[in-house]
Amino acid sequence: MTNTIHDVAIIGAGVVGAAIARLLSRYQLSVALLEKEADVGFGVSKANSGIIHAGFHYDAAKTLKGKLEIQGNLAFDRLKLELGFPFKRCGIIMAAFNDEELATIRTLIDRGIGNGVPGIQECSREEILELEPDFNPEVIGGLLAPTGGVIEPYRYVFALTEAALRNGVEIFKLFKVTRADREDAAWCITAADGQTLRARYVINAAGLFADEISRLFGAEEFTITPRKGEEYLLDRNTEVHPTHVLFPTPSAHSKGILVIPTAEGTTMIGPTAEMTDDKEDADTTADNFRRIFAGVTHMMPGLCRRDVITAFSGSRPVLPGEDFYITVSQKMPHLIQVAGILSPGLTASPAIAEYVRDLLKQDGLELTEKTVWHKPDAPLPTVRKLKPEQVDELYHNDPAWCNIICRCESISEAEIVNAIRHGHTTIDGIKFFTRAGMGRCQGGFCSYKIMKLIARETGLPIEKISKHGPGSEIVVGHLHPMPEPEAQNHV
Ligand SMILES: Cc1cc2nc3c(=O)[nH]c(=O)nc-3n(C[C@H](O)[C@H](O)[C@H](O)COP(=O)(O)OP(=O)(O)OC[C@H]3O[C@@H](n4cnc5c(N)ncnc54)[C@H](O)[C@@H]3O)c2cc1C
Repeated sequence: MTNTIHDVAIIGAGVVGAAIARLLSRYQLSVALLEKEADVGFGVSKANSGIIHAGFHYDAAKTLKGKLEIQGNLAFDRLKLELGFPFKRCGIIMAAFNDEELATIRTLIDRGIGNGVPGIQECSREEILELEPDFNPEVIGGLLAPTGGVIEPYRYVFALTEAALRNGVEIFKLFKVTRADREDAAWCITAADGQTLRARYVINAAGLFADEISRLFGAEEFTITPRKGEEYLLDRNTEVHPTHVLFPTPSAHSKGILVIPTAEGTTMIGPTAEMTDDKEDADTTADNFRRIFAGVTHMMPGLCRRDVITAFSGSRPVLPGEDFYITVSQKMPHLIQVAGILSPGLTASPAIAEYVRDLLKQDGLELTEKTVWHKPDAPLPTVRKLKPEQVDELYHNDPAWCNIICRCESISEAEIVNAIRHGHTTIDGIKFFTRAGMGRCQGGFCSYKIMKLIARETGLPIEKISKHGPGSEIVVGHLHPMPEPEAQNHV
């Protein structure tokens, strides 16, 4: 590959690796971000509840995840301004249906106050019903945490990597790290396809696979156990639309099954929490759906199972002790372990990045801030949120703004081409970047049109276009040229 020795190589472009890459791009360093998948954010960071937790679940003085959760939460207004991803501080309500649950909630309020959660307060049954008129009237009280919020997690990862790239970070996709050797006071990292890359410092941010990476480097032995969570997404046009994230009272092992108003205006329900021994297990089951549905309709009885349009699952990387493990390796030189990043890893990610930056400094990496640091380009507008006259104005410069490719979410050809030009060349990459294929038909009508656009923009043969990278190609064998999609869906 290249003879350059990077100052830092980050293994894993999930939310953690991406947040670290973006922060390090502020300094005079050469940084490489290595990802085994075809796009960034395709690990746990794409399959979660998208909640920016308020910071009352864990004691910030006793756990690292509690400390970094509250610091991370507070960073999101600034990050949204700088990076422009969908984020709303919609607030969190946690509900009690009996005195025992109310007692648990009062303990959490005290913990939140101790952690410094702004505005956390107890609220009465009447207050809950005023904030959420469709809530089960049997509720007896609960808590309100106004600083809790929701985010589109994949858009956040894309925005972080975009900013990192703009400021000199090199991103290597389809780079599956399979070997590490210490050579001439640097790490030589080898990928599955034989590519190599050298770096003085390495950050292990490989999510569910951080234990395997640690082993490859001859560093600490630990075992990550996946804890799977299933989530179900409802149609945009549901009758019941909660405006706060709704939590039941948690158990010792789980935050419970939630109703989540997503940052883009849909509703999601879940997740479950089940230990599994398969890191790649992404199944969902009818039994779990029934459990989830029973749980959420106890809070919001008006939710309707016919509104469910899709399901997915993701697994939390869990270490014994259930806390983040972020440390300079005691066994191998210049290796930083960032492992066991279970929930609230998404929330804590900005603070994890700062923590890792400080560890690199302690371990001898010189950090000099750049004098010029580029802001990423503002995200393009999206037709769904524009008035017809605004779309018309865009149309005059580029007719592709009026060729609607995804009818359910109103995503135009211009938005899809923009995603492709930003390096997202799989169906899932484009879905996460634009929302094309996230609506009621789940890509049934638009996938073929998107494939045609990928082929046109990249020159890839149609047989090479995949859902999420090699091995997930959509058509098999040779196809005769397809006719151009008709430009009939103009707004
Ligand atoms: C169901 C569920 C719900 C959740 N809800 C929330 C929530 O609402 N709020 C919240 O704060 N947190 C939530 N979390 C937790 C959050 O999603 C994770 O903490 C976070 O995404 C972890 O990010 P990561 O970057 O460490 O891992 P990942 O996103 O998995 O990133 C690791 C990356 O490393 C790559 N990789 C692995 N091995 C290699 C290799 N050998 N070579 C190169 N690359 C490699 C992977 O492909 C992956 O992209 C939830 C988690 C789950 C599962």
